[in-house]
Amino acid sequence: MLRLVVLPLLVAVSLSAQTMPPDSERQLARDIYKELVEIKSGYTTGATTPVAEAVAARLRAAGFPENDIFVGGAIPTKANLVVRFHGSGRRKPILLLAHTDVVEAKREDWSLDPFQFVERDGYFYGRGTADDKAQAAVWIANLIRYKREGFKPDRDIIVALTADEEGGGPYNGVQWLIRNKRESIDAEFALNEGGWGEMAGGKKISNDIQVSEKYVINFRLEVRNKGGHSSLPVADNAIYHLAAALDRLSKFNFPLKTNEVTRAYFEAMSKIETGPVKDDLAAAAAGSAEAMRKVAQASTAWNATLRTTCVATQIEGGHARNALPQLAAANVNCRVLSEDSVDYVQGTLQRVLADDQVSLTIAGEVGKGPASPMREDVLRAVSRLTDTLWPGVPTVPIMVMGATDGLYLRAAGIPTYGVQGFFMDRDDIRFHGRDERMGVTSFFEGQTFLYELVKALSVGQTIVLCRLPALPEGGRPRSAMVCHQSEQYCL
Ligand SMILES: [Zn+2]
Repeated sequence: MLRLVVLPLLVAVSLSAQTMPPDSERQLARDIYKELVEIKSGYTTGATTPVAEAVAARLRAAGFPENDIFVGGAIPTKANLVVRFHGSGRRKPILLLAHTDVVEAKREDWSLDPFQFVERDGYFYGRGTADDKAQAAVWIANLIRYKREGFKPDRDIIVALTADEEGGGPYNGVQWLIRNKRESIDAEFALNEGGWGEMAGGKKISNDIQVSEKYVINFRLEVRNKGGHSSLPVADNAIYHLAAALDRLSKFNFPLKTNEVTRAYFEAMSKIETGPVKDDLAAAAAGSAEAMRKVAQASTAWNATLRTTCVATQIEGGHARNALPQLAAANVNCRVLSEDSVDYVQGTLQRVLADDQVSLTIAGEVGKGPASPMREDVLRAVSRLTDTLWPGVPTVPIMVMGATDGLYLRAAGIPTYGVQGFFMDRDDIRFHGRDERMGVTSFFEGQTFLYELVKALSVGQTIVLCRLPALPEGGRPRSAMVCHQSEQYCL
């Protein structure tokens, strides 16, 4: 009820000042962000330990006791950092997660040095600026701020910055912590990457919260052949077999479909989109195959939301310039809807590749976690805060097409929600790609969003309503932040 009264008043106010943290807090977050981006923590060639140590040093300097800081991991170069900010213990802790490894980036593939933090034309550039060092930096900057401000949460706030999310593998920090230091990260629920704000044409259209995600299967395609001298070629050539099979794969698409979360997503999008796609989104949510096809064509992100996808990502083959190849192999990376089984995907690929000389085996582990329950406290806090900071922008529960460490946490019984409040153009997502970047304003607004969100989720649930502060003559309530200056939290 109160929300109905208050929110229309908020709309009229210039929000730029309130969505931005104070100057000193911005500086701190930016400094940490820069430091993290410039540490070469590439998944295969780098180490995460320098990140964990740099953050630990900052926490010590900010007065966090040694007992509340843990640095360690599967091997010496792949350390994780866990820090605990103590609350009253009235409720079970909340876990704030971010990974510190990044996808490899080669200088020659980028127009800028990927490991130099550069601010240019309203963006921060560098490997990890979007995935996932922005959230890592903000978690730490905000934790330091809570401590400095004397914030007394009613639950412990744990931040875990972890190794090797990209590609998983034996040194994955979340898996290691679950197996070896479970008590240090045990929480009622976790917040993580995986959901961000969507913009189209410079306009904010939704703040997404991830409640489920696709899971990943890597397949190795392999063709073996007896080979021979290249001066005596034969039709039966390993490279040609593989190339033809991959060509068939390139022309194949898994069927389009929706599930509970994506139906809710497309329904919400149909209310905010304009133009002809608006009706298609609504019809896709209602199950129209023709509408799904149009929606999938309209955006690569929507396409990936509507179907399992499999794409060739690596290739190898041949052993000499003048020899017929004895081996040709490829990796095919599949992002699978949770309702599609491993067997179904493998069987489908086998049929599409349509060549019994191309062997198909699963490479690495397949991790499959449940969707998190739609917790009302989390969803309500996110949607109220979103509507306060960016009036009219809806909060949309989503399934994401990538996979994150949330998978392991969900499987371990810690429901995990991907939410960041960093807004990005939905058709210019540069995670894992060249010239990765984050909008400067998006970064600092996300800092505010996450600061307020964690606060809202860690103050007593007993304070439901907000007593608005005394207003100046003819004045209007300005924002949620004004409310908690008068010690009444209104989110
Ligand atoms: Zn990531």
